[in-house]
Amino acid sequence: MKVLVINAGSSSLKYQLIDMEGERLLAKGLCERIGIDGKFTYKPQVEGKEKQDAVDYAMPSHVEAIQAVLNALADPKNGVVASMDEIGAVGHRVVHGGKAFTESCLIDGEKIEAIKKNFPLAPLHNPANLLGIEACQKAMPGKPQVAVFDTAFHMTMPAAAYTYAIPYEYYEKDDVRRYGFHGTSHRYVSSRCIELLGKPEHSRIISCHLGNGSSLAAVQDGKSVDTSMGLGPLAGVPMGTRCGDIDATILEYLMNRYGWDMKEMMNVLNKKSGVLGVSGVSSDFRDLESAAAEGNERARLALDKFSYEVKKLVGAYAAAMGGVDAIVFTAGVGENAPTTRAAICQGLEYMGVKLCETRNSERADEHLISTDDSPVKVFVIATNEELMIARDTKAIVEG
Ligand code: ADP
Repeated sequence: MKVLVINAGSSSLKYQLIDMEGERLLAKGLCERIGIDGKFTYKPQVEGKEKQDAVDYAMPSHVEAIQAVLNALADPKNGVVASMDEIGAVGHRVVHGGKAFTESCLIDGEKIEAIKKNFPLAPLHNPANLLGIEACQKAMPGKPQVAVFDTAFHMTMPAAAYTYAIPYEYYEKDDVRRYGFHGTSHRYVSSRCIELLGKPEHSRIISCHLGNGSSLAAVQDGKSVDTSMGLGPLAGVPMGTRCGDIDATILEYLMNRYGWDMKEMMNVLNKKSGVLGVSGVSSDFRDLESAAAEGNERARLALDKFSYEVKKLVGAYAAAMGGVDAIVFTAGVGENAPTTRAAICQGLEYMGVKLCETRNSERADEHLISTDDSPVKVFVIATNEELMIARDTKAIVEG
C-alpha cells in the first residue's frame, strides 16, 4: 500500500508519499503561502524524476493545494504513481486529540465532530489540520483517511502526572490537564530505542525531542508516563521562541506593568521568549553557538539555560521511573548539536550516564553516543513522524 501523509498548517501543507512495501519514501514536498501567492515544492525520491522548487501555483485554499500534490504525484513525466488509485490511504497529523483520542483512528463524520470539539484546546493547529482532512475528502472522495494525534501517545500518563494542582472542577468541566505533544516522535524514537536495547521486558527511556519546539517524555515499558508540554505546547523546557515553564505570577506582573492584554502577553511568551528572548540573538542553535563562541554572553546564557532545564528534567524523569536505562536525543537540535548534548549529559555521571566524546561528535541517523561501559545508554535517533503516521494509517486501514 502507498500512503500519503499530510501535515496541514493554516497556510502551508507538508506531504510525503510512502510505499509501505519496504517503507520507501517516493516523494515529499511542501505547499506554502496557501491563500496568498501559492508556492509549490515537489521532491521525487525516484531516479530520473525532476523536482520543482517553490514554483508559483495558484492555491486559494487547501483544496487546490492537495490537487497540486496529487497532480505532481501522478504526473506522466515526473510523477511516482501511475494514477491516484495507487494511493491506498491518507494519514493526517492532528495536533490535539484532547481527552477523546487515545490512539490513531479512521476519520468519519463523528471523528470530525470530535476533532472540532478540540478546537478551543488548539485554536491555531486543529482547525488547520481539519482543513487538510476536508480538502483530501473533496479531492479523493471515498479514500480512507486516518488521523494521528500528537497527544495520543501521552494518554497513558497516570493522573498524578497529568493533573494540574488547580481546582479539580476545571479538569472535570473544561478538560484542563497535561496532554503533551510530539507524541508521534516520542513514540517513534522510544520504540526504536527499545529495539536497539534488545527488546528488554522492562525499559525506562527518557526521550528528548529538541527542535524549534522541544519536549521530553518519560517512557516506561513503551508507555508515556510523563511529558514536559502541557495543555498546550508552551510548557516545559525553554524553546526557540517559547518560554517553557514559568511562574504564572510573571503574567500578572508584566500585564499590570505594561497594560498588555492576554493576547499581547501570550505573543511575548510564544514568539519572543525562549533562547531567542534570553539571547536577543536568534532562536536557531547554530547562530547561538557561533555567537557564544565569539564571546556573546547572553547567547552563552541562553544555551546554558536550555541545557540546564533539559538536564533537570532528565533527573526528574529518572526519579519518576525509579531509574533510567536509556536517554534518546532527537529532532533538529537533538540530532545535530553535539555540544548541547554534551552539556545536558555533563554532571549526570552520578546516575550512570557516561558520554563518549568521539561517538558524540560523529554524525549518523542512529547511533550510540555513550561509552560501552555506561550503565545508561545514550542514543541519537533521527525522528520520523511521517513514517509513524504512515504505519498507523496502513495498520488501521488494513484492520
Ligand atoms: P521543528 O520543531 O520546526 O520541526 P526541527 O526539529 O527541525 O524543528 O529543529 C530546528 C532547529 O534545529 C533549528 O532551529 C536549529 O536550532 C536546530 N539545528 C538544526 N541544525 C543544527 C545544527 N547543525 N547545530 C545546531 N542546531 C541545529
